[in-house]
Amino acid sequence: MHKTPITVAYGDGIGPEIMQASLRILDAAGAAIAPEVIEVGEAVYKRGELAGIAPEAWESLRRTKVFLKAPITTPQGGGYKSLNVTTRKALGLYANVRPCVAYAPFVQTKHPTMDLVIVRENEEDLYAGIEHRQTDEVFQCLKLISRPGCERIVRYAFDYARQQGRRKVSCFVKDNIMKFTDGLFHQVFEEIGREYPDLEQETWIVDIGAAKLADTPEQFDVVVMPNLYGDILSDVAAQIAGSVGMAGSANIGEQCAMFEAIHGSAPRRAGQNLANPSGLLQGAVQMLLHIGQGEVASRVQNAWLRTLEEGLHTYDIFDQAHSRKKLGTREFADAVIARLGQRPEMLRAVDYPADSRLPQRPLPERPPAHKQLVGVDVFLHQREQPASELGNRLQTLASPGLPLSVITNRGVKVWPNGFAETTCVDHWRCRFLAPAGQAVDFAELLALQTRLNLAGFEPIKTENLYTFDGEPGYAAVHG
Ligand code: NAD
Repeated sequence: MHKTPITVAYGDGIGPEIMQASLRILDAAGAAIAPEVIEVGEAVYKRGELAGIAPEAWESLRRTKVFLKAPITTPQGGGYKSLNVTTRKALGLYANVRPCVAYAPFVQTKHPTMDLVIVRENEEDLYAGIEHRQTDEVFQCLKLISRPGCERIVRYAFDYARQQGRRKVSCFVKDNIMKFTDGLFHQVFEEIGREYPDLEQETWIVDIGAAKLADTPEQFDVVVMPNLYGDILSDVAAQIAGSVGMAGSANIGEQCAMFEAIHGSAPRRAGQNLANPSGLLQGAVQMLLHIGQGEVASRVQNAWLRTLEEGLHTYDIFDQAHSRKKLGTREFADAVIARLGQRPEMLRAVDYPADSRLPQRPLPERPPAHKQLVGVDVFLHQREQPASELGNRLQTLASPGLPLSVITNRGVKVWPNGFAETTCVDHWRCRFLAPAGQAVDFAELLALQTRLNLAGFEPIKTENLYTFDGEPGYAAVHG
């Protein structure tokens, strides 16, 4: 029988115990895997590897392309980088998939029928780390959203929903405010959604969507969202499911994937045979689905559900009303192993497709748009002053081909015809825009900057304004 090579890291704290327990269950269930062990975490950080992983470990990861990882301890301070962020970036893990399921009455929750999956975009948005201080008063963080990034994550969410027999995909965005970035995510959701008429589809503005998710999570099934909203709401969803200590997550890329528990290394519980291995086991079940071993995944999951409903619980979920016996990590694994082949009677049994691998689809090629330079936003650091005065000075430095169109302060129009009441900071966005239908030459932008500089202004940043196939590639200023 062919065994799929996987890379395994035992991690820190409770990591080694829960990894051993999980691998024993997989082995007993007949998982065809060949684990290769790498070292990551605290000891590696302390040897001076800033991301907690040694160069030779990458070799295993790039070869097996499948990573089952126990939680690690990230040392405080010292310029250490998050191993998870490094792995996601290096291996192109664009999708974070987190099932948030209630296991009532065995795990306490206010939402006993909740069963949803958050699919979070993992590479883009405000997480690129491109931040600047621009003036005394203003700091910025760039939010980057790409069409390929949106297409990949949205298609993944639809393919996943279809493959897992789910009925609905919801999209959370804030495109009433961020019309270009979140607007693109929403547009791609609608475009790709047309190819999945068998799935119900809906879009929520993230604020009301989040409120609904927290109030009536049972109304949701698969929810796809950009990175920041997904980061926050996947924690909210796991928390209200009641199963933070029992949830796993998958990080999926085009070539590689990483599977783990969502909790940390719980150092205070380490080495005492106390920890609940369920979160990591849930990650491992997702791994089995990813490598096409759906039958083994179903066997493990059903035996695990059966163990829970028989009241065999680790200390963290033990309660007098629903638990029969308090078990240690090893004994809990033994109980699951003893129930392989059985199905739960109260909790919902699973029957995953034998081969749950998702289709690999290349992104469509798109011809580049016709791009025309039509103006520039020049950002100036100026101490507070009447906007009319700034406008008058800048007007004299503009040219007929590139007149001053508008000045805003934190996005609010302050020239022409601004209100004296508008609160201003020391950061002004001054838009110079060619008359309608005309293009400008890049040299005109440079000449403008030179004139500004000679007049005593220092542009702290410029953003070129383009049309793409005649459509403005910049947000209009209202007011
Ligand atoms: P934690 O998740 O380790 O622990 C929070 C609480 O939950 C503790 O009371 C702990 O005892 C309990 N708990 C967690 N998992 C449990 C389990 N499987 N069984 C029983 N009880 C469990 O969070 P923390 O204490 O904030 O972080 C500890 C360390 O873990 C830190 O160094 C942090 O950086 C790291 N961490 C790592 C990961 C990861 O590797 N993916 C994720 C989160 C935190």
